[in-house]
Amino acid sequence: MRLITLVLLGIFSTSLWATDCAQVRKHYQCDGDTKYPIHLTFDDGPADLTPRVLDMLKRENIPATFFIIAYKVDCENYRRQCANNGITMQNCADYQLCQVRKNTLKRIVAEGHMVGSHSYRHDKHSEIPASLMHQYIQRSKQVLGPYLTSQPPMFRLPNGDGWFNRASQPQVLRAVEKYGFKHIAWEMSAFDWRVSDQQGDKILDTVMNEICTKKKGLILFHDGDSEQDHIGRTYTNTHIAKWIPKVRCVADFKPLNYFYPDLKITTQK
Ligand SMILES: [Zn+2]
Repeated sequence: MRLITLVLLGIFSTSLWATDCAQVRKHYQCDGDTKYPIHLTFDDGPADLTPRVLDMLKRENIPATFFIIAYKVDCENYRRQCANNGITMQNCADYQLCQVRKNTLKRIVAEGHMVGSHSYRHDKHSEIPASLMHQYIQRSKQVLGPYLTSQPPMFRLPNGDGWFNRASQPQVLRAVEKYGFKHIAWEMSAFDWRVSDQQGDKILDTVMNEICTKKKGLILFHDGDSEQDHIGRTYTNTHIAKWIPKVRCVADFKPLNYFYPDLKITTQK
């Protein structure tokens, strides 16, 4: 009797929590049985809560790509800053936090995800002096070198500046290519950086509408925050696990090389 009750309870709770995909598709007017091929990408990290995103990706068995702002893992730079201010390495909080982020980056690679450069700093690359732009791109390659997962290594321009306006600012993409990078843009955006969207299911709604309209491609999320060294996009990082089952109703999570078959992966799980 007790066993039957437990089984019934199990069935009940499963059906209670299972995502009703027919309902989800209807809600987003995303009819039919087609699952659209997409790839998740995360920019501006690593950040404090990136491990929560990694936990989710592992649980859901989803491959993703992370575009890293190199200065966030340039721990030697933080150490130097502390030393210049007379602070020892043991007391250098910025250095310690940098090491935490570096460990997160190592975990990203170890768990089979792809890593690309999001330059050294997040400035708009067409608006800074050319020499500084070159310095940022080159330095990012030095700092991220051991963690870049493809050949050619990948690069995503901050704010897409230099990509969207590549016709009028061709020197930016030329610089990216000069250092041997391949630029990887995005087809869909979660717009999760918009503070006004960081409530309820607004970001999920945007994502679902993007997928159901555009039907294919890379989608841009942010685990990090370009304005902060350590604290990331908290709303995305704490809610994405809840959104994924609904996204799965309309999407098939593909690895990056589904979209870029010529990219040679140099790090495997
Ligand atoms: Zn960015």
